[in-house]
Amino acid sequence: MEKLFWKDPYMKECEAKVTSKMGPEIQLDQTVFFAFSGGQASDQGTIGGVKVQEAVKTDDNITYVLEKVPDFNEGDTVKVEIDWNHRHKLMRLHSAAHIVSFLVFEKWGMDFKDIIGSNISIDKARLDFATEKNPNEIIPEIEETTNRLTSEDHEIKAYEDPEQPGRRLWEMHFDDKDILFPCGGTHVKNSQEIGQIKLKRKNIGAGKERIEVSLV
Ligand SMILES: [Zn+2]
Repeated sequence: MEKLFWKDPYMKECEAKVTSKMGPEIQLDQTVFFAFSGGQASDQGTIGGVKVQEAVKTDDNITYVLEKVPDFNEGDTVKVEIDWNHRHKLMRLHSAAHIVSFLVFEKWGMDFKDIIGSNISIDKARLDFATEKNPNEIIPEIEETTNRLTSEDHEIKAYEDPEQPGRRLWEMHFDDKDILFPCGGTHVKNSQEIGQIKLKRKNIGAGKERIEVSLV
C-alpha cells in the first residue's frame, strides 16, 4: 500500500482502490489517511463517503474500520478524504514536539532513550522523560527558543533513510545545529508554519516528568 501522506503530507484527498473488504473493515492500494503510530493520532475523515471510525496500522498496511458496512466492494475505486484542520494541527504539533525534545536533550544532556513516551493529539503533544530534574527550570527558556525558531524560516525535511529503507527521518537545521530524529509521522515543511507554542509541566510520578506542548 502506498502511503501518500509520506510522499506529500499536504494531500487532503485521493482516489484509491479497495484491496480488501471484510464487513466494515477495508484496505486500500494507496492512502492519504494516517493511522495511529509513533504516538501520532490517526486522521479523521471518510472513505467512499463513509466515516472512518478507526485506522489501525498492521505491519506495512492500514486497516480502516468504517462506521458501517459500505456499499462499495473490493476492486472499486473510492475517494479518501481527511479532515485537514485536524491533520494540519497534528503536523504543527508533531514538528514542535521534535524541536522541544531536541532542546530538552540539549539542556539535560539526554537522548532518545530518556524519552519514555510521546503522544500527539489534536490539542497537545506530550513528551515524557525519565528524569529527577524539574522541567520548570528549563521550560521558560525552551519555550522562548522554540517560539523564536517558529517565527524564523527553517526548512523541515522528512524523508526515507537512504541507509535504512522503510525508516523515516525528520530533519531541521538552525543556528549551527542539526536536529535529526527517526520518525514516521506527518510534519509541516517549515518551522514558521508551526506558529507560537506554549509549554506546561506535568508531574506524572517519581522519576518521570511530562512536558506538554500546545499551540497558541
Ligand atoms: Zn515526527
